[in-house]
Amino acid sequence: MSLASQRAGLSRLPLRAAAFVVLTCVAILGVSGWREWAARDAVLKGAETEMANVARSLTQHAEDSLDLLDSGVVGVVSRLEMDGTGPSTIAKLGKVLEARKTAVARIHSLAIIDDQGNWLTSPGTIASTLSDDTFFRHHQLSPKRDAYVGHPVKSVLDGQSVVTLSRRFNKPDGSFGGVVLATISAGYLSHFYEQFEIGRNSSVALVHGDGLIIARNPNNERFVGRSVADAPLFRDPSLQRPSGAYRFKSPLDGAQRVSFFKRSGRYPLLVLATVDQDELLAPWRAAAISRMLYVVALVMLIAIIGAVLVRQLQRGQRMAAALVEKEAHFRLLAEGSSDMVTRIGLDERLRYVSPSSNRVVGWRPNQLIGTDALAGIHPEDRPHVQAIVDAMKRGDMDEARLTYRNVHRQKSEVWLESTMRVTRKDNGTVDGVVAISRDITEQKNLETRLETLAIEDSLTGLANRRRFDERLKEEWARAYRDRSSLGLLMIDVDHFKSYNDEYGHPAGDACLRVVAKVIAAEVQRTGDLAARYGGEEFAMLLPNTDAAGCARVGERIRSAVHDAGLVHASNPAACVTLSVGGAACRPAFERTAGTDSLVEAADQALYAAKDGGRDRLMMSGEVTTLLPKASGQ
Ligand code: GH3
Ligand code: MG
Ligand code: MG
Repeated sequence: MSLASQRAGLSRLPLRAAAFVVLTCVAILGVSGWREWAARDAVLKGAETEMANVARSLTQHAEDSLDLLDSGVVGVVSRLEMDGTGPSTIAKLGKVLEARKTAVARIHSLAIIDDQGNWLTSPGTIASTLSDDTFFRHHQLSPKRDAYVGHPVKSVLDGQSVVTLSRRFNKPDGSFGGVVLATISAGYLSHFYEQFEIGRNSSVALVHGDGLIIARNPNNERFVGRSVADAPLFRDPSLQRPSGAYRFKSPLDGAQRVSFFKRSGRYPLLVLATVDQDELLAPWRAAAISRMLYVVALVMLIAIIGAVLVRQLQRGQRMAAALVEKEAHFRLLAEGSSDMVTRIGLDERLRYVSPSSNRVVGWRPNQLIGTDALAGIHPEDRPHVQAIVDAMKRGDMDEARLTYRNVHRQKSEVWLESTMRVTRKDNGTVDGVVAISRDITEQKNLETRLETLAIEDSLTGLANRRRFDERLKEEWARAYRDRSSLGLLMIDVDHFKSYNDEYGHPAGDACLRVVAKVIAAEVQRTGDLAARYGGEEFAMLLPNTDAAGCARVGERIRSAVHDAGLVHASNPAACVTLSVGGAACRPAFERTAGTDSLVEAADQALYAAKDGGRDRLMMSGEVTTLLPKASGQ
């Protein structure tokens, strides 16, 4: 996986986490909602089952009631057909009917009606006792002898609504003889239905096959006789089944109802048991709301925690990106720099080495990492570097700059300049040192060269006047301490002006170089110093040398130049010659004015040598006697 695609994947992480949180919340809400909906459905299904049971048992009850009525009616019909409608038969049957009515509570009335519509068992006509005589006309016109269940009618005598069950009886000749009628009161049925406690806003209704309500609980009085023939229950083809669940909006109160209907198989009757859906669902709704409140609270908690985590993830990622960028910058700086950047642990081993190590010390970083950081340092420089590193590790020192020699894989040795800095942990304790090192070998060589130039005379290669003055002071102090003797020779080329005039200035320079070489050849002790004092004048400093030793060296120099035989035509000796003045003193024992007095003494001796005819050596001791007459110089 490339770094870019890895980064892209990382940057999508908070988005994915957020999507996961949202998905979790939606899933929890979805599952909870679905479960609540299923619970609601179960409540409705349960109610339907309950309604179905009620409807079935009440249909059964209605059928049983009518059967009971019918059994009486059938008996009377057969007696009438056998015995005729004579007054004695009627009187007997009247008693039987009265007894039966008394015995069976649900029978509202039992009557025998003749072919003219007159009540034979009790006084009156149909018109005067019942609000409707459809059943009578039915039997009058139809030869069918089946039981007929008629519309609910109102009994004029007691004002009660009743259901009629009637059968026709024939005269012996087969013509219409009349009707035997039994009725059952709607009030009785309604009262019976009251026993079924199925809810405050529930209802049970017994409806005639053509849509007229026979009995209802509650509010029987208000509904009996009303027609619901327009309701889907009677119109919708899909509902013309023997039984079924049925949900509808009540045309009476506008409430949504859950119901079950059952049609009687034997009579034109239908029982409809309904319950108010809102009321039915009220307990479920209350429980569901409280449960959903918990779920919503949980989801909100998850969402809040998720949001916080996503935020932190984003912040962490931004920080990581910033860190990566920062690291990349530093790496670029460390690795792009020509200086070698190293990190040294407390165990003095290298933890990090930048690639420029290859150029600076000749080894690649992987060859150095883990090795002793001070291993390559020159043994002479190592104690100094070690002391500084130790001080840094102790925390005594925070920063240092040092130069030292270090091994180089190819060039054997290089000069390095290192800037070291302590690194600390968050709690302030030192955890290592970072060193930035550069190769300063060239600079160092240049410095050495400059130093040499500063103390060396460019023409002759001898020490220059500055160097001579320094060394003179040092040797004077040393001689003072050691109570030893310090000798000085002042040497001047004779008639050099005329040499220049004669052979030219370049030849004069060449002559001075030869003379310098001859003088340098006479330097025998390491402490001796031959210097060019100025112009064609040289000096030789001879530590630990008395006047005699000094004179010996001076004489050797003088004779060596003479013997070199450099041609100098205008010199009386015909060759280049030197005059030499020497002086020696023991600073610890003589009262002198310091170095100046020694130089002056040698200088006077030199003038004395010039005066004495040149090409000779004079010692200061010999001069003193001459001094008084040297007033002309
Ligand atoms: P004396 O024997 O008394 O010392 O006589 P002299 O001519 O040597 O002395 P003087 O001081 O008169 O002249 C010194 C000459 O040395 C003058 C100058 O041209 C010459 N001279 C000094 N320094 C240099 C130098 O570096 N190169 C050359 N070619 N000549 C130099
Ligand atoms: Mg001179
Ligand atoms: Mg001279």
